[in-house]
Amino acid sequence: MTYDIQPVASHFIDGAYVEDTGGTPIPVICQVSEEQIALVHAATPEIVERALASAKRAQRAWAAITGTERGRVLRRAADIIRERNYELSVLETNDTGKPLQETLVADATSAADALEYFGGIAGSLTGEHVQLGEDFVYTRREALGVCVGIGAWNYPTQIAAWKGAPALACGNAMIFKPSETTPLCALKVAEILHEAGAPAGIYNVIQGMGDVGNALITDPRVAKVSLTGSVPTGRKVYAAAAEGIRHVTMELGGKSPLVIFDDANLEDAVSGAILGNFYSSGQVCSNGTRVFVQSGIKAAFLARLTERLGDVKMGDPLDETVNFGPLVSHRQMETVQGFIAKGIAEGARLVAGGKREGDTGYYLQPTVFADVTDDMVIATDEIFGPVLSVLDFEDEAEVLARANATEFGLAAGVFTQDIGRAHRMVAGFEAGTCYINTYNLAPVEAPFGGSKLSGVGRENSKNAVDHYSEMKSVYVAMTPVEAPF
Ligand code: NAD
Repeated sequence: MTYDIQPVASHFIDGAYVEDTGGTPIPVICQVSEEQIALVHAATPEIVERALASAKRAQRAWAAITGTERGRVLRRAADIIRERNYELSVLETNDTGKPLQETLVADATSAADALEYFGGIAGSLTGEHVQLGEDFVYTRREALGVCVGIGAWNYPTQIAAWKGAPALACGNAMIFKPSETTPLCALKVAEILHEAGAPAGIYNVIQGMGDVGNALITDPRVAKVSLTGSVPTGRKVYAAAAEGIRHVTMELGGKSPLVIFDDANLEDAVSGAILGNFYSSGQVCSNGTRVFVQSGIKAAFLARLTERLGDVKMGDPLDETVNFGPLVSHRQMETVQGFIAKGIAEGARLVAGGKREGDTGYYLQPTVFADVTDDMVIATDEIFGPVLSVLDFEDEAEVLARANATEFGLAAGVFTQDIGRAHRMVAGFEAGTCYINTYNLAPVEAPFGGSKLSGVGRENSKNAVDHYSEMKSVYVAMTPVEAPF
């Protein structure tokens, strides 16, 4: 069975696909053949205006229905996504180059989880009652209004839903701008939400680069922006939002530590390092790319890791037996190659990989460096590709200090059999999302987000509700009003 990759039109506004070929063309390039497989156009100012006007028009009525009714729409959308998982996974693979083996279990399914979870709690979002003698205060949990979501390219379906689901559950309307590198998947989320009963205008998708994102977030009709992207973009978006005192959620980059003590279960630690460095060809924000390995387990760890890399199967990501795909774009491949060259030049020991695979397609071998020191560029900068750095350490206090010696603070992980040490380590980590004896799981029930430069606010869990709603406090007098004169 074949599926259409070319979308009906570039944008989804007011409940329908909309085209305006006047916008800058955005080609979608196949990561395997390097050929164009679809084409969309960036939003023109007219398209931006239509999206904003439609969201603004639709939002109040959406907020006025009950949370249970809103939740029903979201849960229906989750069901449709699960029914169409295969088709949506094929699209995600075409958009990103990630193996179908991965996308079948990690992308549309994660979007469905978010819609189901926030659909489930939409009816129980409440304010509270505070008795003050005879008087009382009650609080109303209210929607913020029109929210803008801006996505990165590594999880286009998931990001569109992780932002849309809590926003809509709380009674907001959303305008989502996908990354220009992966413009296809968010359109399907919009189409499915509409099919599930979301009123026109409640979830719009428009395409474009940073200028389109900026046009959205500087519009006075917009109450909030949630960005998933790099720290430099985060700075710009946060500053633009600050101008209008808008709410923000920032899901930004990282350079997370993964600490493996001598007493760790070796097989689990190697699995954690693989998940935290090579899943999605390493293009995951929370990756544990600084792998601190205690001296007593280093030789065994490197031996088993390189052995397990023998099971990597690169190839056409649509082949379900392939477990390692190409990078998302030529540009990203070159960026990662630049980091690998720097690692070699700085004297890190290349243990595995390091090369491009073939002449066509953006394939880079899973790469492992050992003997990496804290000041090497491969240990300080986010690479966002399949490059794992092993750093040596001797004791707990030393490794904790070095793990935290970064401006980032997205995630951190520890592998040890010592339960006390595991909890001491996560208490000490300066990171928003921590793992003990596993890595990189992000269930919708758990808050996800970063500290320090890695972000502001949290996605997922009940926590996200506070980032998509605000409390109105209502003082009710039951007694005569006392005034001084
Ligand atoms: P990016 O920062 O280049 O772009 C992100 C998005 O911002 C894109 O949609 C882009 O068009 C838009 N944008 C760029 N400039 C803008 C501006 N001035 N105003 C408004 N929007 C603007 O990031 P990327 O290369 O697409 O994604 C990779 C980065 O995303 C990595 O740093 C990665 O760590 C991060 N990321 C973070 C998370 C997380 O949850 N913390 C998840 C995935 C990716």
